[in-house]
Amino acid sequence: MKLTPKAIIVQKFGKNAQFTVDEVQDVVQNGCPGLAIPQKGPCLYRCSLQLPEFSVVSETFKKKKDAEQSAAEKALEKLGIDPSPNVPSAEEAWDKLIASVKHLFSNEFLSSQSPLRGHFIAALRRDGDLYGSVPASVIAVCDSKLANLCKLINPKVESSHLLVLTYSMRAATRLSEFVVTSEGQLSIWRKDPYPPEIIESSIIRQSESPDSICIEAIHIPSSLEMAVHPVTLNVSSTGYYLDVIARTLDQTDGNKILVSRTIGKASSEMRLYFAAPKSYLLDLSSDLPNVEEVVDFEGSLNPRASHLYGQDIYGDAILASIGYTRKSEGLFHEDITLKSYYRMLIHLTPSGVYKLSREAILTAELPMAFTTRTNWRGSFPREMLFMFCRQHWLSEPVFSTCSNSLKESSESSRFYEKSAALESAETGKECTSGGGTTASDNVRCEVKIFSKSRDPILECSPKEFYKKQNESIENTSLKVMSWLNAYFKDPDIPLEKLNNLVGALDIQCYPQNFFKKFSSYRFIHNVQQRKMGEKLLQANSINMLNAIPEHGIYCLSIGGPDSGIYPSNGCLSFISYSVSLVIEGETMKELLESREEFEFEMGTGAVIPQVEVVTAQMSVGQSACFCKELPPQELILAAADDSARTFSLLSSRACCLEYHITLLRVTEPPEDRMEQALFSPPLSKQRVEYALQHIKESCATTLVDFGCGSGSLLDSLLDYPTALEKIVGVDISQKSLSRAAKIIHSKLSKKLDAAVPCTDVKSAVLYDGSIAVFDSRLHGFDIGTCLEVIEHMEEDEASQFGNIVLSSFRPRVLIVSTPNYEYNAILQKSSSTIQEDDPDEKTQLQSCKFRNHDHKFEWTRDQFNCWATELAARHNYSVEFSGVGGSGDREPGFASQIAVFRSRSPPEEDDLLKDGDSAHHYKVIWEWDGNGLSRSSL
Ligand code: SAH
Ligand code: MG
Repeated sequence: MKLTPKAIIVQKFGKNAQFTVDEVQDVVQNGCPGLAIPQKGPCLYRCSLQLPEFSVVSETFKKKKDAEQSAAEKALEKLGIDPSPNVPSAEEAWDKLIASVKHLFSNEFLSSQSPLRGHFIAALRRDGDLYGSVPASVIAVCDSKLANLCKLINPKVESSHLLVLTYSMRAATRLSEFVVTSEGQLSIWRKDPYPPEIIESSIIRQSESPDSICIEAIHIPSSLEMAVHPVTLNVSSTGYYLDVIARTLDQTDGNKILVSRTIGKASSEMRLYFAAPKSYLLDLSSDLPNVEEVVDFEGSLNPRASHLYGQDIYGDAILASIGYTRKSEGLFHEDITLKSYYRMLIHLTPSGVYKLSREAILTAELPMAFTTRTNWRGSFPREMLFMFCRQHWLSEPVFSTCSNSLKESSESSRFYEKSAALESAETGKECTSGGGTTASDNVRCEVKIFSKSRDPILECSPKEFYKKQNESIENTSLKVMSWLNAYFKDPDIPLEKLNNLVGALDIQCYPQNFFKKFSSYRFIHNVQQRKMGEKLLQANSINMLNAIPEHGIYCLSIGGPDSGIYPSNGCLSFISYSVSLVIEGETMKELLESREEFEFEMGTGAVIPQVEVVTAQMSVGQSACFCKELPPQELILAAADDSARTFSLLSSRACCLEYHITLLRVTEPPEDRMEQALFSPPLSKQRVEYALQHIKESCATTLVDFGCGSGSLLDSLLDYPTALEKIVGVDISQKSLSRAAKIIHSKLSKKLDAAVPCTDVKSAVLYDGSIAVFDSRLHGFDIGTCLEVIEHMEEDEASQFGNIVLSSFRPRVLIVSTPNYEYNAILQKSSSTIQEDDPDEKTQLQSCKFRNHDHKFEWTRDQFNCWATELAARHNYSVEFSGVGGSGDREPGFASQIAVFRSRSPPEEDDLLKDGDSAHHYKVIWEWDGNGLSRSSL
């Protein structure tokens, strides 16, 4: 086996070889001449390798392991060791292949762990002429070593696996002293019998298997006229299962059968079996191993089996999960039902992958949009694209992301975000940005899909920019999946029409390669075009008029009292549902699919259109029932438990699907998305700008941000020239604080290096603690900010904060912002597509919910005024009211209301700290001292 350079080093030096990987920030130049703004690219790694005599350092790489290998390679070079021991040439591989085949027929092999061993023993139980003969097709697929050697002889083996069989047979002819092959036979015998004691001990080891087993398998006829149907393989303890499969395919014995590689999961034993064509006579006398085999299958192509396998299969085929494995002593086997066959089939389609990941075959649908990671349910687009490529024997998709430097006006937090996004894109973990970052969208992602032989199949290069790298990757992946899905929905569609249909998916398809790969699906996809019977509709109808034909919804009825709570775009709807098959002339319905609770994001097409349209008309607590025409047959059969019965119903009677849905509850769309829909710049940015104005005007040198969250304010402050020298943030969320620390740290480090720093901030501290508790270190600051925090505390705690901040912290100026509840009617209406204008404003106000599920209260203007006025008076402060978003002069006032408190007492008085107040209740989380030194307890 070939060792990697690192493995060679480790083998040689053991613990004396020290690999150290460092992260390096690569500086890439944007593509615009004359505008070379240095810009941080993705994170790169460099590895230094310390050996006893010397050390080496690698170049930089995107992956840690590549950096390590490169360092090891350099070290090997210095040591004068050839890092790449020869890959065997075709001739050497050929010699090794002969040796490997010889080994299979040795005495030792019968007691080996190889999965092939089972076949050799079973061969000794075959009768008559077949005694001891091992089918060459199992040798070709059950021993990966042979396959790998064959690939070295001829790379075509990758896409035409039957060549392994040819080469193995030919290798056997070179071993005429040990084995026997004969013209026209796809099997190999050992020449001399095994010694009796070897046979005995082997057979005893395998005698635990039961008398006879029945295994459910699937027969896939090559003719599309004939239905795929279940078959039972009856394997007796003394029989060889390949002979049983052969008889099912009308062949005399297993030596006439060809076997596919495994399908599906790597660990699976699921394979396709089909008859070898009569002309599969090998020219075994040929000396040259490199001759191309042109096998003429006179049997017709089996489109269904070929599609399932991803390579051509001819004639009728059996799909079975059976075989000898490394792990089990006896014969491993599993039943394959018709349902699992159909599930495999739909798993090959883009929407099928999604439906299965949601376990909702008749209800879920590949979404049209990727909004947020938090709202997405089921497998993520990138993950599904990888799966799709793997299943269709394509190369892994190649992503490339690039950043738009022109938009990158003021470096900042985005850098951090980008590398964080990269990390999360790789690990698949969620990456949320801190509350209200002001980053503009700047990452774009392209993807290319190639065949295994590197022929281009598709590329997608969207023009859209995203804030985070993983967001751009998911969106691009979704576009590819959507385009493919449109093809799989209607494989007969001409390419131009397909591109028109799916609009701006920015796909370039290489038609020749694409159709070579996927056209077989045309034969399989079975859309039932039969119209629903009039009688059927009547029998089932509650109200014939209740139909939305343009959406394919019939007999719609919605029941239950209107609760006034409707789902709106961007919210998650939670439904329970059942789907049944309604059959002409029968009163009983067949239940196909049901779920107690199923959630999906409204407005993204994450469910079939009918379910989305109907749910949008329901209020929480209501139930709905409707009928729709049948979807493609394979979907129904993949959902139905009794696929055979369902199949016969579908083929003999008029049917439709009936959906019952209850809307259990809905979530509100996230606050900032609502705000973003309405305000530009976003409300969060407007709040920061408002605070900045006051910071500048007041010439403050010290600032404390109460409830700083992920540091959006502190971070933005550093971008502007102010008089600030010391900034402090307090929050109770560790997670937010650590995000804030990273962002501020990276910005301050940058500023330190910059020739012209635009901030004078010398000291920054982040504290973990509750702002309702006093800490003397934060006493007497020039300015305090508390943006959108009080509504996250219980009302009495918010009052407590008010009293403590003005009595003990005593900043000279305090800015407090909180949502204006009265504005919610506007915010929430804009994101709801259902609610009509309500003339009665009061009822509308009552039905408004809070903007964020974490809000404990949201105050009207009056409530906020009362709170602030009373507080100011009590502590000798003045207060002014203002806000951002909307206008203070028009109803219903600002979207975010703001109070600005100013101390009326002379500064000297405030500086006096009462005895006993020198309490340190907060914990320092991170600290920066102005010289680039920082302490962190994260
Ligand atoms: N001011 C930030 C964050 C607002 S979100 C911004 O405008 O982006 C509200 C923040 O208040 C959260 O980070 C939450 O952890 C914090 N918070 C809630 N109760 C708190 C308390 N008692 N003490 C300190 N922080 C609190
Ligand atoms: Mg809030």
